[in-house]
Amino acid sequence: MIEAIEAGGIRMQPVSLSHREVDAFYHCFSNRTIWPLYHDAIHAPEFDESWWDAYVRVNARFARSIAENANHGDSVWIHDYHLQLVPAMLRELKPGLRIGIFLHIPFPPRELFGWLPWRARIAEGLLGADVIGFQTESDAANFMTAALTFTNARTGSDGALSVYDRRVRIDSFPISIDFDEFSSGASDSAVKRAAESIRRKVGPERRILLGVDRLDYTKGIDLRLRAFAHALHAGSLSVENCVLIQVAVPSREPVPEYARMRDSIERLVGRINGEHAVPGRVAVHYFRRSLPRKELLAYYLAADAMIVTPVRDGMNLVAKEYVACRNDESGVLVLSETAGAAQELREAILVNPRDISGTSDAIVRAAKMPATEAAARMIALREHIRSHDVHRWADGFLGALCE
Ligand code: UDP
Repeated sequence: MIEAIEAGGIRMQPVSLSHREVDAFYHCFSNRTIWPLYHDAIHAPEFDESWWDAYVRVNARFARSIAENANHGDSVWIHDYHLQLVPAMLRELKPGLRIGIFLHIPFPPRELFGWLPWRARIAEGLLGADVIGFQTESDAANFMTAALTFTNARTGSDGALSVYDRRVRIDSFPISIDFDEFSSGASDSAVKRAAESIRRKVGPERRILLGVDRLDYTKGIDLRLRAFAHALHAGSLSVENCVLIQVAVPSREPVPEYARMRDSIERLVGRINGEHAVPGRVAVHYFRRSLPRKELLAYYLAADAMIVTPVRDGMNLVAKEYVACRNDESGVLVLSETAGAAQELREAILVNPRDISGTSDAIVRAAKMPATEAAARMIALREHIRSHDVHRWADGFLGALCE
């Protein structure tokens, strides 16, 4: 066993994995089977028995490590799709724990979940928990249906599931951000100066549209670029009055689909700039790197509109961070209706990201929105996120676990 690590008053117990396990458990089963399947099978999920075997083995190792470190009566909070078998494995090893699991990504409709050769094992693995948390009500409802279809779980009292003689609470707990941390970070004078410098460099008369995403095929970066290009072609926006800044954070590069997607996005950026740039004015500034927090805040502050167009997203924290940073109540959020955040942020301009001309219209509307309408929307968005921050999320989940 690797030694525990102490940091910031927290003791962390690492679980060691071989390179082969990282490949089969993480890059393959987690990110080539579960990830695409749970995101509406945007890309075909791949099913491979040896990846599944590694997933079971690694989940068992996490469960053993927790069992060795937890005491009877402790609460255990397991996170995300990599560890869906851990709740049942842990309950078997150590029955006297309260066990919760939160899924940060969507849970698919029963018909898609049913593609999984190991659907019953995964649903039973999750049902080992006392509380199973999802981002949205529809994710929770999808799981409920899947559990009733593929396991022995039955509908219990008060909307919970009954698994043998146990009650399992299935509920939504939309994750959020530390509103105060982002809001006060954005009022830092160095961040404000950096934002002014960005505006000066791109041209103070130009509206700045911003995209910030991991380079992931779920994020709809290609659709956003095409919607922006559509507005340039139509003459509704021009490089003289507008620029799109796209921050693309490298992600999961060993997975072949990600490398292909990155190439196609970069070709698209080249094509749009090739067609629309004039001396000193590109249409799209594309940064393929991760930005440190202060620099990211400076971009949030500099941007007149944040364009968030995932084809599927569990939540999307970038949308919430942008809003938290807009202390002067300016700025417009364009948000995909298929992001979990759209269930809460109703005052954003909501779009179907696959509708290129509709998204293009929304981008134009955001770029040209009168300040009074933008402020009314932003005030409502800020109020929601301020009162539904990450602390409320954590307290809500842990409160449910301790009930
Ligand atoms: N982020 C970052 N540096 C960057 C770009 C993004 O640290 O250059 C952070 C961002 O602040 C946010 C997270 O990455 O907290 C992305 O979360 P989100 O829910 O939007 O998407 P995910 O990547 O989890 O799918």
